[in-house]
Amino acid sequence: MTSKFIKRSWAEPYKIKMVELLNITTKADRMRAIKQAGFNTFLLKSRDVYIDLLTDSGTSAMSDRQWSGMMLGDEAYAGSENFYHLEEAVRKNYGYKYVIPTHQGRGAENILSKILIKPGDIIPGNMYFTTTRLHQELAGGTFADVIIKKAHDPDDEFPFKGNIDIQKLENLIKKTGSKKIPYISVATAVNMAGGQPISMSNLRELRKMTDKYGIKIIHDMTRVAENAYFIKRKEKGFSKKKIVDIVKEICSYTDGATMSAKKDALVNIGGFLAINDKKIYEEARNLVVVYEGLHTYGGLAGRDMEAIAIGITESVDEDHIRARIGQVEYLGNKMRDFGIPIVLPIGGHGVFLNAKKFLPHIKQTNYPAQTLAAEIYIDSGVRSMERGNVSSGRNPETGKEYLPDLELVRLTIPRRVYTQAHMDVVAESVESVYSNRKKIKGLKMIYEPKYLRFFQAKFKKL
Ligand SMILES: *Cc1c(COP(=O)(O)O)cnc(C)c1O
Repeated sequence: MTSKFIKRSWAEPYKIKMVELLNITTKADRMRAIKQAGFNTFLLKSRDVYIDLLTDSGTSAMSDRQWSGMMLGDEAYAGSENFYHLEEAVRKNYGYKYVIPTHQGRGAENILSKILIKPGDIIPGNMYFTTTRLHQELAGGTFADVIIKKAHDPDDEFPFKGNIDIQKLENLIKKTGSKKIPYISVATAVNMAGGQPISMSNLRELRKMTDKYGIKIIHDMTRVAENAYFIKRKEKGFSKKKIVDIVKEICSYTDGATMSAKKDALVNIGGFLAINDKKIYEEARNLVVVYEGLHTYGGLAGRDMEAIAIGITESVDEDHIRARIGQVEYLGNKMRDFGIPIVLPIGGHGVFLNAKKFLPHIKQTNYPAQTLAAEIYIDSGVRSMERGNVSSGRNPETGKEYLPDLELVRLTIPRRVYTQAHMDVVAESVESVYSNRKKIKGLKMIYEPKYLRFFQAKFKKL
């Protein structure tokens, strides 16, 4: 059958009952604002931003069910009813035995690293994440990247760029000895690679191999539902499986997890540590009192735990996850159609622009990605962020900039916040900057903070 209607449109699986009004600014307003912010989108005021794609962390819209759950907060210091709801949601949807709430993901990373890592240990993982690596290092460990090589190539369209290079990992284990490796750190929908998934077969193989050496697997499960959706769509044998079952199978190959509920789980704050081993659980339950709060609230209000419990259930809903990733792909495909260079395949939580190809006339030492993020903001008030030379910083020994392979601008999509029309505006704005790209000049850094410079650095136009 040939019909021009064969490809049907999709729409958001929710309707809107409360709105937040946006500020519409003029180009002159935005020029003033970005100059004041030193051409750094992190230093813009939210009120000067029209469509905010800085991050998907804690920026989701909660559902009416989550908001009504907030009214049922049991704010008892110990044994809050909401804690038990959270525990039940984690057991039911992820299958982990023990749960300890934390104020956000890094709180769980801190506790876990303190318990499992000894000075001199090596922690292999599928690409680093900023806070995860820092907590490993603070506990005396060293991160070792064992993600497949393709993950570092923005043009390689391999569907599972989050996979671990099993051979590389096994060689590392043989070289250092399994005693020096407390666990393998496995992220689903790898953030720094552009939201790229790991396959189920890679996970199965990893479990088999690590079992041989008696090494644990700890799961950074911040975006596990997004990963599960890619498995359903792209891996053989999963197209008829339910997302919740795929999520549970992923978790079943791991021994525990750290979670930032600010991503997948659709809340504005919160996280947890989940673990199957009773001894580790007992240690963590003790340690959480020092850093976060009692083990039945861990730095959260009762109402926050209720919202997470409901959010977890909503996050594995088929219609939700299809629309969530559908929206990211909609934006990515639009840009691709315009001929704009983006990281492929399109990832789970955002679209990443390849600034090296977008602005080839700007030297990496004049920060093409930083420049591009500022230009997009000036054009339309859309806020994105730099993931390139500024973010990766300097080598502490030589003082030289790392000049990473990937020089990217990240347009991260909050969940359930913006409509398809907003995505059209974003794509058209990037297209308009792209057609004027030859006139764009780079930046010079005029203020450089010592730590994590991308947050607060300031620049001047060349
Ligand atoms: C956000 C994030 C974290 C840290 O979680 P926070 O809630 O921001 O502390 C850890 N890992 C990944 C992959 C993340 O995206």
